[in-house]
Amino acid sequence: MNAEIIAVGSELLTPFRTDTNSLYLTDQLNQLGVEVVFKSVVGDDLKRLVAAAQHSIFRSDIIIFSGGLGPTEDDLTREAVAEALGLSLRRNEEVLAAIERRFALHGWKMSTNNAKQADVIEGAIVLPNANGTAPGQWVSGKYENRECIVILLPGPPHELKALFESECRERLRAKLPPAFLATRILRIAMLGESHVDARVSPIYKRFCHVQTTILAGAGEIELHFRSSGETMEAAQACVDEAADAVEEELDDAVYSRDGQSLEQIVGYWLQMRGATLAVAESCTGGLVAERITSAAGSSRYFVGGAIVYSNALKTDLAGVPAGMIERHGAVSREVAAALAEGIRYRCESTLGIGITGVAGPAGGTDAKPVGLVFHALASDSGTEVIERHFPGDRKRIRRFASTLALDMVRKKLM
Ligand code: ATP
Ligand code: MG
Repeated sequence: MNAEIIAVGSELLTPFRTDTNSLYLTDQLNQLGVEVVFKSVVGDDLKRLVAAAQHSIFRSDIIIFSGGLGPTEDDLTREAVAEALGLSLRRNEEVLAAIERRFALHGWKMSTNNAKQADVIEGAIVLPNANGTAPGQWVSGKYENRECIVILLPGPPHELKALFESECRERLRAKLPPAFLATRILRIAMLGESHVDARVSPIYKRFCHVQTTILAGAGEIELHFRSSGETMEAAQACVDEAADAVEEELDDAVYSRDGQSLEQIVGYWLQMRGATLAVAESCTGGLVAERITSAAGSSRYFVGGAIVYSNALKTDLAGVPAGMIERHGAVSREVAAALAEGIRYRCESTLGIGITGVAGPAGGTDAKPVGLVFHALASDSGTEVIERHFPGDRKRIRRFASTLALDMVRKKLM
């Protein structure tokens, strides 16, 4: 069986609200072995909602509506679904009594509008909503002799989640063949998306029963593998086989296969080696420190460091000779190395990171364009410097630089 999700609400068509309910529902459906094949957002408009509902029953087996079950005039999901299925809408006295009790319990006065939340589609199962007034509804519909399930859930995310978990998950499971979904996520640092894709897509093709997705961020790529099977073991074996083959191809560029972040992996290796780290950051403004310390327990291996934005602080806090900055410029291989060595010395850490670059958008020159960053890692075996010219805006450049610096630590310790 496949599924379709329709998020209802004009606010979801503005720049100010995002439909997140469908992400949650997709995850839940996938775990039941159901693939989501269509997703849409529709404003509070009866004609458009009826049209969307009609389309969905024509093409999908399970249709979940989110939102539009409120008491106001623009809450029209019930009406639209009833009309699309050719079913009537009737006020349900039991539901009405439950809504009245809910208002009385909180000492509120029920407005007449709320009564419409007790309108139930003919033949629907009412899904009681412990967290709000509007109950959900489960309709077993028929479209030209094809069965379909239409589920109406309230829009507020905490209500939708609670209702899906308490009323929908097991009901759906009972309708579906047993299926277990296994996933594996490989994370990769500092390789380009097209480069990764070119290397791994021939491998994907060997595993046609495994679904794969590639997600790229600044300097990091995630490869998602998914497969369903009749047992969890079978499904897991399938994804692992594909993931193993890809990992073998990409070798040490893969830093995690269980969802851990780069900063967690770096923390793991620092602890494994009994090493400590200090940072002197210029263009990243503390981003490396922020990422490292976002992992719980980082005080065991992260000493601290300095944000050395001005030339004076590069000298005062990281011991970079003023003459060196004058000769080579603050953004240079030499200064990056001196930052890493200086902060390592000052903080008495095993490793020191130094970062200096041009994050933009202003401040670039022909010789030192926006995006140019020098990353240095100092250790007792010397100092390594990597020069890179990153694409993108300030935010992406800083993210790239922090990722590369973290990855240098990982590769050093592995
Ligand atoms: P209510 O009785 O609260 O009006 P409702 O079912 O009519 O319930 P909506 O009015 O559509 O729900 O949405 C209520 C609130 O829930 C919205 O203001 C929004 O904050 C949130 N919401 C609605 N739909 C979504 C969605 N798809 N993703 C995330 N949040 C949503
Ligand atoms: Mg509403």
